[in-house]
Amino acid sequence: MPAKTTAKKAAKKKASAREQLTEYRRKRDFKKTAEPEGGTKRSARDAKKLEFVIQKHAATRLHFDLRLELDDVMKSWAVPKGPSADPSVKRLAMQVEDHPMEYNTFEGTIPKGEYGGGTVMLWDRGWYEPEKGEGEDGVREGLKKGDLKIIFHGKRMKGSWVLVRTRGWGGGGGSGDKPSWLLIKHRDEHVEPGDALVENHRTSIVTRRTMEQIGGATKEKVWHSNRPAEDDDGAPVRKTTISVAEARAARARAAAKAAKDE
Ligand code: MN
Repeated sequence: MPAKTTAKKAAKKKASAREQLTEYRRKRDFKKTAEPEGGTKRSARDAKKLEFVIQKHAATRLHFDLRLELDDVMKSWAVPKGPSADPSVKRLAMQVEDHPMEYNTFEGTIPKGEYGGGTVMLWDRGWYEPEKGEGEDGVREGLKKGDLKIIFHGKRMKGSWVLVRTRGWGGGGGSGDKPSWLLIKHRDEHVEPGDALVENHRTSIVTRRTMEQIGGATKEKVWHSNRPAEDDDGAPVRKTTISVAEARAARARAAAKAAKDE
């Protein structure tokens, strides 16, 4: 590494994950929500690659949350319509409070009445890198400039994208307001028209569940093994409910018990 870059890096005072997560923690009661509290140092985790995650979140309004790892936290944006892989479509991305790294594995339901109450799906996960290189320095620089060109290495998010800061600021008017950005696909081999990207991928990238299944809806209790599974990436489908055979066995056990009790 050139001496100049090293000196510049050393001069920068990095805020700790805990400091950066003050707003995130203030908004949540961790006795009531299963969301992570955060604060784990990067050295405690394995990866060298910068993580990213996109969560589909059915809060008051359905939206997608884009999160990019930087300095031990996840820089976060709420993208109301979700990402579009169509270079002619610009998607509003409202920056929100930094989230803990542990949020990258969170899928489930935030209780009603709690901050962000509703179902959260892990829509895509993987790693990303700034197009100009330089790892976290490159990301920090791009965010500061309001022009962050990145390459996504996800299952669904692929290739070159850009986050461009607009002149607008997030809603709410509070002191925690953060800027608005636009998320735009760059032209490459991963282009898809309009909303194809979000419409073709409606299940969890990790558990393959639908929003309804994650939310605990009661329909589809029995998993039909003869029905083609909702599987958009060719990966094995993980069963989240009981199979027909298991249901049959459970019914037989219940009948046997009832007969015994009589
Ligand atoms: Mn959200």
